[in-house]
Parts: sequence; C-alpha cells; structure tokens
Amino acid sequence: MTLPPLQGHHTAREAVARAWSRGRLPQVLLLHGPPGVGKQRFAHWIGQLLVCLTPSEAGPCGECRECRLTERVEHPDIHWYVPLPRPKKRGTPEREAEALEELRAGWIQEARERPFRSTWSEEVTGLHLGTIRNLNRRARTPPGTGPRQLFIIADAEQLVAQESAQEAANALLKTLEEPAPGTHFILTSSEPGRLLPTIRSRASGLHLPALPGRDVATFLVTFLEADPEVAERAARLSGGSVGRALGFLPDGEEDGPLERIRKEAFHLVRSALSPRSGDRFAQALAYPPSGARGLLELLGFMEGWLRDLAAAMVGAGDRVLNQDALKWLTKTAQGGIHPTGPARALNRVEEARLQASGNVNPQLLLAGLLMDLHQILRE
Ligand SMILES: [Zn+2]
Repeated sequence: MTLPPLQGHHTAREAVARAWSRGRLPQVLLLHGPPGVGKQRFAHWIGQLLVCLTPSEAGPCGECRECRLTERVEHPDIHWYVPLPRPKKRGTPEREAEALEELRAGWIQEARERPFRSTWSEEVTGLHLGTIRNLNRRARTPPGTGPRQLFIIADAEQLVAQESAQEAANALLKTLEEPAPGTHFILTSSEPGRLLPTIRSRASGLHLPALPGRDVATFLVTFLEADPEVAERAARLSGGSVGRALGFLPDGEEDGPLERIRKEAFHLVRSALSPRSGDRFAQALAYPPSGARGLLELLGFMEGWLRDLAAAMVGAGDRVLNQDALKWLTKTAQGGIHPTGPARALNRVEEARLQASGNVNPQLLLAGLLMDLHQILRE
C-alpha cells in the first residue's frame, strides 16, 4: 500500500516547490497547523521532492523510482520519527533505544498496511531521549542512496511533554544547529507554542490551514468509499481535518475512536443537566482512577456540546456542530437553562482541561466538574 494521497494545501505546495527549484528551501522546516490536517503527509511529499529524479516547479514527478519508494514509506533516505509509548522493558539507555527502534518499525509497518487508519490514540506517548539519540546517530551518517536525506519528526511538541524531555530537545538541538549538507529536517506540530524557543528559532515555519469541509468529505467518499452522508457529517465534525475525520468513521461494526468520545461527552453533558445527582457520580466513577491526560479530548468534546447548546439557545441551529442532536439541543435549550450558563460552563471545562494536563484523579475531576456544571447551568 502507499500513503494516502496528499489532499489540498496547494498554496504551500507551490511555495515549497518553487523554493526547492531555486535552491532556497530551508534545511530545517516546521510545518504547523490543526491536528490531522496532513502535516506528516505533506512532509513526505517534500521528501519526495527532495529525492525525485525529475522534479518540476509543480513538485515531485510521482512516477520515478524514488517517488514511488517514498509513497510506499520504503525510501531508505526518508526517516520518519513519531511519538511512541515508553517501552515496557527499559534497562540500559542502549536497550531502551533499541526497544524504541523496534516500536518505530512496527508503527511504520502499520502505516504501510493501513494507510487510512485513524491514528488517534489515548495512549501517552513522547519523543523520548532514546528516539532522538537514534535519530542523531543516523543524521551523522551520509544518505544511503542519493545525495539527500530527510528526517521527519512528527508532533515535535512532544519533545517537551515527557520527563527527561529537556534532554531530548537539547540532543535534537545540536543536530539542527548544523545540519550536514544534504540532510534535511521537517518538524510537524499542531501546538508550535509548546516547542522550546531554541528549537523553534532553528526552523522556518510553514502553516498548513484547515481544509474546506467539502474537500474532506470528497476525500472520504473517493478513497474510503464512505457513505456520502456519513462522510459529510465526519467532515463537519473534523473541523477541516482529514486525519480527525477518519476518527469519526465507523471502524467495522464499532464507532470510530473520536465518535465514541463525542458520544461519551454527550452523556456527561446530559448527566450534568439531569436532576438526579446519582447519575453524575455513576458517570464519573465509570472512568479509571488514573491517566487524566486521556481526558483532554473528552473535555474538548464537552466544550463542543456546550457551544452547541449556546447556539441552540439563541436559535442559531445552523451553527450547531453536532447536527445529529439538533432536536435534543433545541428542546434542552428551551427547558430552563440559565442564560449565562453555557458561557460560564465553558470556563469551568477549560479549568478542568488545565487540571487534566497535570496528574489528577479523573474520577474526582469529573465528579467535581459535573456537579459544578449542574449548578452553573440549572441554577
Ligand atoms: Zn519523481
């Protein structure tokens, strides 16, 4: 299998291809933009441009051997590094670096076999020191086949999300400061503000914006044979991101991972509105007692539901994102919600998101949140 086709981003493609043909493409790039918008896919496209035997001002030819190897994620000079879970068996730094390399190989294999899978995961991952050491070692050796090599470092903000993170970031910094001739780096991030300023200052930024919803829906219908109605709904919920839209499509008989969380968030908001306080505790206790970071996505969806409720209260049904629940939202909006409730509720969820980034007990966090939301919305 090959990587999914690159969707949209024509302005950025033109800018990069032009810079490359004039010998002005910076050696260290930072692609930033919303999650799932195609930053890593775009990085592979640039990789193709770097190794292509017959590139033009329009980009890589897509036909030559080098282009085809790149599309199959098999090019020996294009190295793809992604955040990974911490290996279970660690031991010495060498052993950990080896274990991380095995995990990375498995991840790439999965990307080859299931290019259209949703990569959303609740798992805590990071760009660990061992990974950066592996990368550095490889970046010091010249490319294997052609004159150039590329290192893609996905979700680069995860260099600072882990313990020993500073170390990993500093190790990478040395490599980025003086890249060897022919050695290119592309960092991607949906939260560039979380990158270390020293790393950010080494890279030239390029923004990849959200795609028009229409393009996302077309992609899902064309390449995944999604039902047009399902595709349109997923596109709307995705906020212009193919990667996120994949998470709303059904996975066999089951809901996709993001669809499941969207529904969970709905149940939580509904229980916050319910007169029965017992429901709220039961809902909160259904969550595991640790691992609050997995809650960030859930809280994000709760904000979406609250914004929809606010839209329904002012009769702006067309602004509602969760269109499948428009009836419920309209009815609920008419049924005794405090006029400033949704706005204050959003602040309270934002507070919970900050707590969830720390190491709090998810059960306590949610119980407190649901209790407060009830008061804010109903009293
Ligand atoms: Zn080519």
